[in-house]
Amino acid sequence: MKIQALDLHFQGIPETIASYLVIGSEGPVLVETGPGSTLTMLKTQLAQAGYHPTDIKHVLVTHIHLDHAGAAGWWAQNGAQIYVHEFGARHLIHPEKLWASASRIYGDKMQTLWGEMLPAPPERVTAVRDGDIIEIGDLRFEAIETPGHARHHHVFRLGNIAFTGDAAGIRLPGFNFLDIPAPPPEFDLETWLTTLDKLNQAQFSVIYPTHYGQVKNVSEHLAQIRARLQAVAEFVRVRMENGMSRDDLVVAYTEWNHELARAAGVSESGIVHFDTVNPLYMSVDGIMRYWRKRAEAAQSAT
Ligand SMILES: [Zn+2]
Repeated sequence: MKIQALDLHFQGIPETIASYLVIGSEGPVLVETGPGSTLTMLKTQLAQAGYHPTDIKHVLVTHIHLDHAGAAGWWAQNGAQIYVHEFGARHLIHPEKLWASASRIYGDKMQTLWGEMLPAPPERVTAVRDGDIIEIGDLRFEAIETPGHARHHHVFRLGNIAFTGDAAGIRLPGFNFLDIPAPPPEFDLETWLTTLDKLNQAQFSVIYPTHYGQVKNVSEHLAQIRARLQAVAEFVRVRMENGMSRDDLVVAYTEWNHELARAAGVSESGIVHFDTVNPLYMSVDGIMRYWRKRAEAAQSAT
């Protein structure tokens, strides 16, 4: 078994979004497809690894966000079987709703960022549930339910390693800084903390976040992500309670994150890498929505 990160050079920036090539006894398997906008780069990288697109018969996606599964439909139309969380399956078959939902976040930048999202033929989509085993030759992937970043999220365990999608946060190579992607509408602090416990208990020797590459100090990484997660949620909660507007919160949250990044030695261009893969306004909207939903739920319970 061999694992290779294919660098999709998202928006021309190296090492921000990976598609993982896992080579087993029945040939190569892709974990994550990246968006439609990086499909050409993915094929180039695949060719450099010695493979043709028709060699790809199986594709696993951790969740259906466009930076992870935007190109899944193309692979399905070209004969690959796509394995996706049961909640996400219908969105790959009928991507219109997902596209519309992403448009609310990204506005007129949709095409530039994500390219095209093609519908997957239904027979090419396998809906996966918690604990399901996907066996491809000598590769045995186990789907682990890992909500928090999104409800429809799986981490895929392969032996004592795991492909963590966004569930273990973002860490870009060469930077000693971690980032939390907390998009609307499904970001949920509590379930994400439970997910981090679950990942920690699994004692993986190595994890592969989609953003980006191999992480070996797994328990330390997870502890740091937990602290960051709590900090970002708290930052937004306190300011919401003080009546800060959404736009002012975006400014404050951005300044705060950039200061933290600089203090950790991240260069100005490095900050652009992080912001490209994880726009900070998106996390403000996701966290604000989470706290509002919580407040509404508490109110309707009384
Ligand atoms: Zn995501």
